[in-house]
Amino acid sequence: MRLYVGFMTYLTVSILAKDEISFEPKVQAAKEQGAEAIEIRTDSLTSPSPEVTAKLVAMAKKKELPVIVTCRDKAEGGVAELGQSLRLSILREAIVAGAEFVDIEYENFKHPDVQSVLRAMLEQYPSTQLIISRHNFTGPFEDIKLIYESILAVYPEAIPKIVYKARHINDCFAAFDLLSEADCPVIAFAMGLAGQVSRILAKKFGAFLTFASLDDESASAPGQISVRQMKTIYRWDNLNAQTEIFGLIGNPVGHSLGPTLYNACFDSNDVNAVYVPFLVEGEKLEFNAFLKNVSGRSHMGFGGFSVTIPHKTHALDYANQHGEYVDNLAEAIGAVNTLKVGFNGILSAYNTDYAGAMDALASVMAGDRHDLHAMKVAVIGAGGAARAVVAGLVDVGARVTIYNRTVQKARSLAKEFRCRAAGIDELPQTDAQITINCTSLGMHPNVETCPVPEGVLNADMTVFDTVYNPLETKLLKNAKAAGATIVNGAEMYIRQAMAQYKIFIGDEPNEDQMRQIVCEKLQLNS
Ligand code: NAP
Repeated sequence: MRLYVGFMTYLTVSILAKDEISFEPKVQAAKEQGAEAIEIRTDSLTSPSPEVTAKLVAMAKKKELPVIVTCRDKAEGGVAELGQSLRLSILREAIVAGAEFVDIEYENFKHPDVQSVLRAMLEQYPSTQLIISRHNFTGPFEDIKLIYESILAVYPEAIPKIVYKARHINDCFAAFDLLSEADCPVIAFAMGLAGQVSRILAKKFGAFLTFASLDDESASAPGQISVRQMKTIYRWDNLNAQTEIFGLIGNPVGHSLGPTLYNACFDSNDVNAVYVPFLVEGEKLEFNAFLKNVSGRSHMGFGGFSVTIPHKTHALDYANQHGEYVDNLAEAIGAVNTLKVGFNGILSAYNTDYAGAMDALASVMAGDRHDLHAMKVAVIGAGGAARAVVAGLVDVGARVTIYNRTVQKARSLAKEFRCRAAGIDELPQTDAQITINCTSLGMHPNVETCPVPEGVLNADMTVFDTVYNPLETKLLKNAKAAGATIVNGAEMYIRQAMAQYKIFIGDEPNEDQMRQIVCEKLQLNS
């Protein structure tokens, strides 16, 4: 058996070109963007042949990129219907031309004629290694370990490649388990959006390679992300077996600021960690299954999670049943936005939304949350954000009135937190010193809407809008014009993220860096 000492995880770009002319700039771009290997998908060529293959391999070698040559069978996702003998002669030529790897489907390799030719070639050209692959485009394999073993049984020197469609993020754990347990190089990841995280974490789990696209649009498979994102957002160059895993659990998670924000902070604080989006579709059942998967794999280095819609209440329930610790305010708010995974895999649960809101307010006032004691505050809205804000305000002894469109909701929230309730139409009668918008009014794309009527705002008031997209809402513009002190939603976001980072890492993040990243991103989005 061949020894694979110190192999790296190749960040690989799969190139599907029609001919040599269109191939060349793609290889160049892959090299420039930082790809560490390329796959030549010869089945995408308009006229695939051994001769063209040899030229493409030579072009790639000139760029000093390791090459995988694949002529994918149409039955396993290939572009064109090509005969077995043509596909085999392309792989033979690739070996002669010096490709470092050739990839053949397990089903085809089992064919005695194919196998004898390839075995002889690989013996003659020992610098080429064989990747034997299995794909399932509709769902996960029943027993991925068995497939791994059956590949090695037919050719022990092979690098097994096992790729399947994730129907849910929970399907990724089979690939993580295989990668963690395998004692030889193996490629295993899940396709589709639900499998995206398995491509990012491939290096952490020691996969032989993972695929990334040349740009955000040219992905050759669903769930694939670009080399640029791998390198600049997901810290590709820093990932290793010791990297701790953090991420955002929610649905959707695609537009979160979290990966950019936390990964930049890990970078500047020199923390060996990565923050990724965990798209957890479904409800409590699927969420619980995800956390069970995490808790049962304490050796994998999951460090903690931000939790967002629709799982904040599921996280509280889970932590109450299976957790080690639940923060009092998270319990009072009825929602958890932060989970910390202990060394034993057991979770602790917190809510940093309230801390974010309180710290944002305190920053423009005297500077301490407790200075909000006895202040009259109008909270507009009675949803999730309002719950966190009201819980925080009541905790420091502020005098809160909740104004909501659906007055019944305001009343029931007020009853829970022992404060006052009113309809949103009663806002003009408020004598509040602080007004806080916790509705979605004013949020992109409805930027012209405003929850507070004209005449309510004045120069003695502090106005805080939890909406952060756009950064300056219509409410804040009006408040500024009335001479009020204003606090934007980004401040709350930044401060809840700072509190969360501290729970995750145990250290303070760089506040200026966080503010700069959040404001830059939000300005770009607005
Ligand atoms: P939610 O639970 O769905 O609650 C939405 C609230 O907005 C409800 O009180 C709802 O009133 C009210 N509302 C919605 N449309 C309205 C309209 N046309 N007129 C009057 N009231 C309306 O949402 P949430 O989780 O609390 O989030 C609310 C906002 O908070 C979000 O849009 C987000 O921008 C902001 N937020 C910011 C941060 C941060 O870190 N800065 C964190 C979390 C949330 P009804 O009860 O009558 O439906």
